Amino acid sequence: MYDQNHLARAITSGSDGRHDAPFLINGQTEAETTYGQFWANAERMAAALVALGLRPGYRVAVQAQKAPEMLELYVGTVLAGGVFLPLNTAYTADEIAYFLDDASPHVFVCDPAQVDGLSPVAQQANVTRILTLGAGGDGALIDQRDAQSTGFKAIPRGPRDLAAILYTSGTTGRSKGAMLTHRALASNSMTLCDYWRFSNRDVLIHALPIYHTHGLFVATNVTMIAGGAAIFLPSFDADAIIEAMPSATALMGVPTFYTRLLKDPRLTEASRNMRLFVSGSAPLLAETHAQWSEVTGHAILERYGMTETNMNTSNPYDGARRAGTVGLALPGVEVKVCEPETGAVLPEGQIGVLEVRGDNVFAGYWGMPDKTAEELRPDGWFITGDLAMIDAEGYVTIVGRSKDLIITGGFNVYPKEVEAVIDDLPGVEESAVIGVPHDDFGEAVVAVVVAESGAALDEASVLSGLAGRLAKFKQPKCVVVVEALPRNTMGKVQKNVMRQIYAGVLGK
Ligand code: AMP
Repeated sequence: MYDQNHLARAITSGSDGRHDAPFLINGQTEAETTYGQFWANAERMAAALVALGLRPGYRVAVQAQKAPEMLELYVGTVLAGGVFLPLNTAYTADEIAYFLDDASPHVFVCDPAQVDGLSPVAQQANVTRILTLGAGGDGALIDQRDAQSTGFKAIPRGPRDLAAILYTSGTTGRSKGAMLTHRALASNSMTLCDYWRFSNRDVLIHALPIYHTHGLFVATNVTMIAGGAAIFLPSFDADAIIEAMPSATALMGVPTFYTRLLKDPRLTEASRNMRLFVSGSAPLLAETHAQWSEVTGHAILERYGMTETNMNTSNPYDGARRAGTVGLALPGVEVKVCEPETGAVLPEGQIGVLEVRGDNVFAGYWGMPDKTAEELRPDGWFITGDLAMIDAEGYVTIVGRSKDLIITGGFNVYPKEVEAVIDDLPGVEESAVIGVPHDDFGEAVVAVVVAESGAALDEASVLSGLAGRLAKFKQPKCVVVVEALPRNTMGKVQKNVMRQIYAGVLGK
């Protein structure tokens, strides 16, 4: 039965007594790792960590390529009572220095190709147990694992003990380490498993990175709790996903997965056996939702979550999956929309800051009690920083980050509203609207637009298309046409980067 209070026990539940069932299927070679093999290695990893001096609560930091062995390290850390701390593979040595200094892990695992550069960084941060893990499952960590035997029993942990720390992407200021408890992670993954009807007949196409909530806790934990299999791909590859679909049942992706897959003429045929397409981590355009339905006959199920909370809302499995919304509060999660200054609850349909409460919510930011107090209320409500509205039926629509709200001449402009109108214009593929400093207005609206291939688009044609469709104060003071919007690895448009690039675009 499910154990909501210990993550390692929760994720074993699906494979109890099913040691020969496949867990990871290598998307390139089709080689299978069974649950039995995976658990045996995860137990050896746990024993190796303990042999290295790991004690309950100690952190294990890792920056490594996506590989089954990294999942063994994750599960091994949790079995050993440690705290798993995965780091984005794009981080530079300077950034790694900050994380190691901040989290003071007991063990740091990195790619063999990086070890010369990162060892001094780790030593500087007083981390002396430095091991390597390569994309092919090689490295000193594997030697340590293989020196151990199986049979390691999970170290008991309480529901409030930490199982992981994930650093937020830190679009403003320093990255913060979100402390995630056993209960938060176990309960949320179980909820998702039930809500999305995952079972041991499911085969998930896993093409997300595993240093982020989406690929690690949503995709991996849900598969393990269900006892299903995952076709494990190193990264997004449209060809590989299309080829995997006939032997899969589900895909979890960021919106760019879906826009790119739509360009493949094989999609209709390939997707016939699929049961579920989940999207999240960034807004899915209503247009992508509609095109996907047309081409595959499936309504993409969009959900919403964040590093600090795992998943908060989801469109329903059976009911209406509404494009442009992130669905309903998940069982066990409460949501409300509040007035930003006072925190007073706003009536339905009004835009404000979304707050969430539930077992899924994190325990605070590592080593940052003041930041924690600013965002996590004493009664458990977490101020997400996302602007949202909730309709009469409880469907939540995310309008953007509160930091992206534009205040121009004293008026509030929600970028998403302007983006939706621009995206509707002929010849527009997508757009991002930002505020840049302006002498008179404080901030001015600037639209950055990507044209559909072959479309002739310029500032004048966009502005004339918007005339009469948006109040004057919402209309961009400037439109820039670009090849592509800057995005991070999770498909999020980096508005902070854009604000820097276009800060002087109005010539002020
Ligand atoms: P992260 O902590 O990297 O997972 O980023 C969390 C943020 O991504 C949220 O606070 C939202 O701003 C955004 N986000 C996640 N899912 C969605 C979604 N389905 N629609 C719109 N924004 C989303």
